[in-house]
Amino acid sequence: MRKEQVVLVTGAARGIGKEICLNMAKEGYDVSVNYRTKTDEIEELKSKIESYGVKCALVQGDIGSFEECENMVRETVEALGKIDILVNNAGITKDGLLMRMSKEDFTKVVDINLVGTFNMTRNVIPLMVKQRYGRIINISSVVGVAGNAGQTNYSASKAGIIGFTKSLAKEVASRNILVNAIAPGFVVTDMTKVLSDEQKESINTMIPLKRMGTPEDIAKAVKFLSSEDSSYITGQVLHVDGGMLM
Ligand code: NAP
Repeated sequence: MRKEQVVLVTGAARGIGKEICLNMAKEGYDVSVNYRTKTDEIEELKSKIESYGVKCALVQGDIGSFEECENMVRETVEALGKIDILVNNAGITKDGLLMRMSKEDFTKVVDINLVGTFNMTRNVIPLMVKQRYGRIINISSVVGVAGNAGQTNYSASKAGIIGFTKSLAKEVASRNILVNAIAPGFVVTDMTKVLSDEQKESINTMIPLKRMGTPEDIAKAVKFLSSEDSSYITGQVLHVDGGMLM
């Protein structure tokens, strides 16, 4: 049954973002799907979302651009009426040891992952303040907390998201807006496809639950943080990593 609530998910054409959209649709939320690259699959995703009896909007744009984020928010409101939940999911990696990392590779990752989260949130928050309701869920990472050799740029951006989450949670709590982060461990998507079988095996030995996560593991956490069951939780980092970090 439709929940009459609208969720906007960034970077939702594939991977974790796509799974979040499908799970939220199944749960009855209307879904605005942000995608950057146009593919045939994006229309298929829209049809699949609508097959759950909810509405779907497709909003194209790059979260690295403040103006494009402004447009995506406007287009979502025009199509679906409002935004109750924002999931800042889009993210990139450009891995390499610091000794060899270019300034471009460092700033690009911070510009998309961290500044992109600001760009979307800055455009959504006035609407949420006005309606005195909102949920913001930022996708961080286990490496934003623990660090990881070869990922200084990515870890810095994901750690920045945690500081951003906590500060904003304090700013907007009085307006009934909850802001939380999810820190996934290693999840099976295109982002981790580059890992060799050997690397995957060695990662599994570091995970008490002995497997990498699935996009659905993360989508379930998003569902919880969007629901009334989490109405007394804000400024937190929910670790969904099979016990990797404890
Ligand atoms: P993915 O499969 O690589 O998908 C990333 C998505 O983000 C793609 O749809 C991509 O769109 C989109 N995107 C990238 N840059 C964008 C931009 N500038 N504007 C709009 N969309 C953009 O990654 P994933 O594994 O699903 O990761 C999703 C989130 O979880 C990321 O924030 C990632 O850092 C985080 N995370 C992932 C893991 C993991 O192990 N997979 C672990 C911890 C955290 P295009 O198709 O146009 O490239």
